[in-house]
Amino acid sequence: MNKQQLITQLQTYGLQWLEPELEVVGRRGGAGPSDHRAITVDDTTIMVPTFNNSAAQSPYTATPESSTGCATLRFHDRVIASISIPKRPRFYDLATADGTPYWKIALLHSRDVLATTVLQTCIRYNDATTSCQFCAIGQSLEAGRTISRKTPAQLAEVAEAAVRLDGVSQMVMTTGTPNSSDRGAAYLTECARAVKARVNLPTQVQCEPPDDFIWFERMRAAGIENLGMHIETVDSEVRNRVMPGKSSVPLSYYLMHFRRQ
Ligand code: SF4
Repeated sequence: MNKQQLITQLQTYGLQWLEPELEVVGRRGGAGPSDHRAITVDDTTIMVPTFNNSAAQSPYTATPESSTGCATLRFHDRVIASISIPKRPRFYDLATADGTPYWKIALLHSRDVLATTVLQTCIRYNDATTSCQFCAIGQSLEAGRTISRKTPAQLAEVAEAAVRLDGVSQMVMTTGTPNSSDRGAAYLTECARAVKARVNLPTQVQCEPPDDFIWFERMRAAGIENLGMHIETVDSEVRNRVMPGKSSVPLSYYLMHFRRQ
């Protein structure tokens, strides 16, 4: 099996983490790649499911070697490779003046990506008729592992520290969908502007398509380099079933936005 096949297998089946860790840097629940942790396979750092049900059944296991920062990867009983585990970032030890730990504001994804959900609530969540079935945006909030709204000032403070202390080289900001026609674009723009004023950090933001094309120009003016609007699947039947609220925005509307770019 080559490296790419191994990575695909790990991301498909997940990974059983066989021994408790002293420092957990993975992420349970939440938006984006939740229930994952970062591992490095032969110089490639990937996010792999480790905390969900499918990972608990995975034929792949990892046994950490506490003194080396590495772990032994096995497929059933056969040793496959040695993998390394990114260290807990130093910015996790800091807190804002009001006592909010930095790790509740943004997390390290992969090796050098700072990621955050600026609004940890969503109009579609917790409603069977609208909620996306794959989403766990409320879980980390309920568990006290994050805060519901990260302010632009908090994000700028954490981003600066993550760059300075841990060599973070890019930032991803996603959001739950607020009850406004801009679908979160306005708040993401405000957050990005604050971050960019503090530190030069290439930034991607993610939201549903806003109602007005003017938001693309405002995002660009705020310094945002990359925008993700996730259709999840091109199969309309699957969209209607798995993400009944989000599928009310037709695929053609997403495409219309991209043609505009
Ligand atoms: S739109 Fe769907 S995936 Fe996005 S935060 Fe809301 S419920 Fe979750």
